Amino acid sequence: MDLNAHPALRAADPTLADLIALEAQRQRDVLRLIPSENYASTAVAAATASCLANKYSEGYPGKRYYQGQQYIDAVEQLAIDRAKAVFGAEHVNVQPYSGSPANLAVYFALLQTGDRILSMSLPHGGHLTHGWNVTISGRLHDVKQYGVRPDTHRIDYAEVRQMALEHKPKMIICGASAYPRTLDFAAFAEIAREVGALLLADIAHISGLVAGGVHPSPVPYADVVTTTTHKTLRGPRGGMIMCREVHAKAIDRGVFPGNQGGPHNQTTAALAVALHEAAQPDFKVYAQRVVSNAKTLADRLLTHGFSLVSGGTDNHLILIDLNNKGVSGKVAAAALERAGIVCNANSVPFDPRKPFDPSGIRIGTPALTSRGMGAEEMVKLADWMNAVVRAPDDTALLDRTANEIRALCAGFPAPGL
Ligand SMILES: *Cc1c(COP(=O)(O)O)cnc(C)c1O
Repeated sequence: MDLNAHPALRAADPTLADLIALEAQRQRDVLRLIPSENYASTAVAAATASCLANKYSEGYPGKRYYQGQQYIDAVEQLAIDRAKAVFGAEHVNVQPYSGSPANLAVYFALLQTGDRILSMSLPHGGHLTHGWNVTISGRLHDVKQYGVRPDTHRIDYAEVRQMALEHKPKMIICGASAYPRTLDFAAFAEIAREVGALLLADIAHISGLVAGGVHPSPVPYADVVTTTTHKTLRGPRGGMIMCREVHAKAIDRGVFPGNQGGPHNQTTAALAVALHEAAQPDFKVYAQRVVSNAKTLADRLLTHGFSLVSGGTDNHLILIDLNNKGVSGKVAAAALERAGIVCNANSVPFDPRKPFDPSGIRIGTPALTSRGMGAEEMVKLADWMNAVVRAPDDTALLDRTANEIRALCAGFPAPGL
C-alpha cells in the first residue's frame, strides 16, 4: 500500500489527501539536493503511521508513569539496543523529538545558566542550536565561536585550541550543517581534555555516513553525541543522544522530565526500523555511494568553473560560492527549482552578502543516492546546473530542463513513495 495515497485519508479528507499526493509527486519528479533531506523507506513510514502514536509513555523502559507499557517498553529497548550496536555507544536516549531538542536537553543536563560554550559559528557552517544569538542556547549561555580559515575553508584546530585555552569553556561543540570536510574528533577531544571541557559532537548531518563507516565516529572521543535521525541516517523525523555511562542519568533526566513530556513512540519504532536497515551490508554501500556521488558531482562542477567552499567535499554535501558567477544564492536557487533541481541558498564563509540573501547554495547527494542514482546522473546534474546558473532568466531552458529531469526521475523510483 502507498501510505501517501491511503484510501481512508482520501475518504475522510480529500483536500488534505490532494495536498499529500501533490507533495509525493513533487518528491518523485525533482532532484532533491537539500543535504539534510532524504527518502525514508516504506517500512520506516509504516511504523511512523502506526497506533504507537496513541500511547503515552512518560519515563523509560521499566520505569513508566502510566500502565500498559509492555509492548512500548520492548519497542524502545529495541531502538536503544540497535543504536548501541550500530554506533558502539555506552548509553542511548532515543526520545528527543528532533535534533534541536536533543541539543537543548544536553545543555540542560550538563551545563548551568551562564556556562561558557565554544562552538562553530553559524555563518561558517555551524548550527543555530550551538549557541547562535537568536536561540535559547545563545540566551542562556556565554558563547564563543570558532570558524574556518579564510584560505582553506577548513577548521583551524590550532585556533580552536587557542580559543579554548583563552576562554576555558565548560563545553566544546563540534559538528556542523554546512561543512563539506571530515571532522577530526580526536583533535577536538584532545583540546577538550587539555582545558577540562566536555565535548559534544553533533553528527545530525553525517550520522548515516558514520553508521555506514565512511566518516570517522565521534563515539570513542566525545562525552556526548547528538544526532537527528532523518538526514543521512534515513529514519523518521527525530533525534537521539548517545553518551558515556557516567552521563547517562543526567542525560536521561535532561530529556525527560527536563525538556520533554511523553516520547513519540511511533517515531521510536520507526527509528528502530531505520537502525535495523542501517545495520545491513547494503547501507554501507549506500553510504559509500553518497560520498562517491558527491565527489563526482563536485569534480564536474569544478570543470564548469564553479567555486566550491574548501575546494571540494569529503562527505555528502557541497557548498557552492556563486560570487564568480554573477548570480546570488537566492536567484540561483529559484531558477534551479523551476528547472527541477531543489537546493537551498546558503551563506558561504566570509560571505560579503547578507544572511537572508547569501552568496551560495548548498547541495548534497543523500536523497538522489537513495533513488539509486550514480556517477552518470551526477555528471548530467552538474551540466544542468551549469546551464541554469549561466541563464537563470531563460524560462524556456528552465522548463525544458524540468521536463528532462522528470523523465530521468521516472527511471529511479524513490523509496517510500
Ligand atoms: C539539522 C541539524 C540540527 C537540528 O535538527 P532539527 O531536527 O531540525 O531540530 C541540529 N544540529 C545540526 C548540526 C543539524 O544539522
